[in-house]
Amino acid sequence: MEHQERNIIRDIIKTPKLDTSVLVKGWVRTKRGNKNVAFIALNDGSIIHSLQIVVDVANFDEELLKKITTGACIAVEGKLVASGGQGQSVEVVASKIFVYGTADPDVFPLQKKGHSLEFLREIAHLRPRTNTFGAVLRIRHALAFAIHKYFNDNGFFYLHTPIITGSDAEGAGAMFQVTTLDLKNLPKTSDGDINYETDFFGKSTNLTVSGQLEGELGAMALGSIYTFGPTFRAENSNTPRHLAEFWMIEPEMTFCDITDNMDLAEDFLKYLITYALEKCTDDLEFLCKMYDEELIDRLKFVTENDFKRLTYTEGVAILEKADQKFEFPVKWGIDLQSEHERYLVEKEFKCPVILTGYPKEIKAFYMKQNDDGKTVRAMDVLFPKIGEIIGGSQREEDYEKLESRMNEMHIPAKDLWWYLETRKFGTAPHSGFGLGFERLVLFVTGMSNIRDVIPFPRTPKNAEF
Ligand code: ATP
Ligand code: MN
Repeated sequence: MEHQERNIIRDIIKTPKLDTSVLVKGWVRTKRGNKNVAFIALNDGSIIHSLQIVVDVANFDEELLKKITTGACIAVEGKLVASGGQGQSVEVVASKIFVYGTADPDVFPLQKKGHSLEFLREIAHLRPRTNTFGAVLRIRHALAFAIHKYFNDNGFFYLHTPIITGSDAEGAGAMFQVTTLDLKNLPKTSDGDINYETDFFGKSTNLTVSGQLEGELGAMALGSIYTFGPTFRAENSNTPRHLAEFWMIEPEMTFCDITDNMDLAEDFLKYLITYALEKCTDDLEFLCKMYDEELIDRLKFVTENDFKRLTYTEGVAILEKADQKFEFPVKWGIDLQSEHERYLVEKEFKCPVILTGYPKEIKAFYMKQNDDGKTVRAMDVLFPKIGEIIGGSQREEDYEKLESRMNEMHIPAKDLWWYLETRKFGTAPHSGFGLGFERLVLFVTGMSNIRDVIPFPRTPKNAEF
């Protein structure tokens, strides 16, 4: 079997060359049949569909065929023919079969179909072999590729910002500490504090919660940049929308105000969703059928309609009049909860919403202050089923205003001297936003828990795989 090159099942199904010899390799999804003929559904991960293999039992060793059970990895050589059976247009009539690896039916966890998503989370090492996770992971890949393509096509440069950061003032959330100090025997200063001078970096360091501050440094040189990397938040938030380790996309654009920023966010999201609709049709149809009948219509709706733009103040006024009881009562000044965001999107406007002009107290120090002295040029993009998918702003480019806001918020300027210097040397108006990659994948796949759209989720008390 070594002489022939492997055929990818996707190619066989999408562009079949009937009556040619093929060699396919993959994992057995099911085997059924009778004494005379066996049908194997073989999946190689390239496409949601499995390829039907027809086995004339008389032509094969009985012991070999016994080894072919759900989960086994096999290679099959045979002839590709038109299929009379239901559910497929082509099939392979096997002439040779090789078993790479068996999967003992008595212990293989995916022997039966229809496991719950909760159970599959406990076998994250095997769940990529299910149709659902195959579909999700292929869509995740397509979206990641489309993100790079969009930015590359639009003149943005991919900037790699650090994962280990020396500043604990990024302000976006609780951080994980990074240290090589011996936790059982911590060096102390004369005041009794931990002495980080002997730590690996000679100072206290953490995993990044956002690449934005460094992203701004890049934008102030290259014009438009984006980051796309892992982000870590140590908040103990056990929700279906939060991970402790997630991937974030953060474009940052010089000479760009809050309106340009909103225009980019809307265009970007529509591009990504359109890309998935075009390139991931089979996987989306599968997820639509299995989990969420309205999925494809919802995606199309988002690409075809303008996002509704309004201010936080207008949004709060709507929520105060809403005929719905919220767990968290609404009044001007509160940080909007997911239930509020979803009310605006799902009940009030029935389309994605961009809220701007948030109270400065609930937003980060770097957001550009409005003339009213109360609000900042923030923008959050809110999506159906998700709530916040993007958070962004125009940045404060004025040195004095930025410094005084940092003082008000007790952010030590000495830790962020390098950030402040961008406002001292050649400052410029600029804006940017952060898109949570898994929230995007959540929306596009229609899955309802963020743990099911990343291969190996990191959440409180969960880092097994
Ligand atoms: P939320 O209010 O939903 O917790 P946030 O306002 O803390 O989010 P930002 O700091 O604005 O989040 O981060 C930008 C984007 O990153 C968010 O809009 C969201 O899409 C995503 N995001 C934030 N925190 C998480 C998380 N813990 N897990 C997954 N994605 C996240
Ligand atoms: Mn936010």
